[in-house]
Amino acid sequence: MIGFSTDVTELYQLKEKFKQLANIDELTSIYNRRYFFDNANREFNRSKRHQQALAVISLDVDHFKAVNDQYGHPVGDQVLIKIAQLITPTIRAEDIFARIGGEEFSILLPNINRSKGLQTAERLRNLLDKNPIIINNKIKLPIKISLGLSVIKPSDGCFQDLYARSDSALYKAKSQGRNHVYIID
Ligand code: GH3
Ligand code: MG
Ligand code: MG
Repeated sequence: MIGFSTDVTELYQLKEKFKQLANIDELTSIYNRRYFFDNANREFNRSKRHQQALAVISLDVDHFKAVNDQYGHPVGDQVLIKIAQLITPTIRAEDIFARIGGEEFSILLPNINRSKGLQTAERLRNLLDKNPIIINNKIKLPIKISLGLSVIKPSDGCFQDLYARSDSALYKAKSQGRNHVYIID
């Protein structure tokens, strides 16, 4: 009986471990794209039902290709890890911070309205702007980010509507010269 229950516990723990691995980005250890969109859709429906605020930030590293070109891909990887480590302690437990792909990240912010969303995005832009990324205690890189923000509105039918605006806003932030926050209402 004891042997049997131990097997079940181990199996359960193994299943939980696999579930966790499926949700986590291998490089940065934050959430991955899949976890982000699964939860974003659920959160979108919840916010609609309860008429609560919801904001999304799309964030992309400025001129990241130049880091790889100058220092190599492994240093580029370290930069992405450091960016995730810098941002993670500054956001709330209920926010979902994920690496969407490459050097692009997103943050889902439940119960955050337009003005708080702008504050958060500007705070993150400033965080990177004021804190150069240091690699192996010797390379000091002035890494900047651009951010696009959107907030839920009544005409949004699904999360993709909201996400598309934050993505467009990100490209606007880039075209405005980078190291910028842009919002599309
Ligand atoms: P922009 O300011 O317009 O965003 O310029 P950028 O150079 O950041 O953007 P671009 O899309 O030209 O280049 C992104 C680079 O990111 C190219 C790609 O090799 C690199 N990259 C994507 N994923 C990874 C990764 O996991 N590790 C490293 N080291 N580099 C990556
Ligand atoms: Mg980039
Ligand atoms: Mg990019």
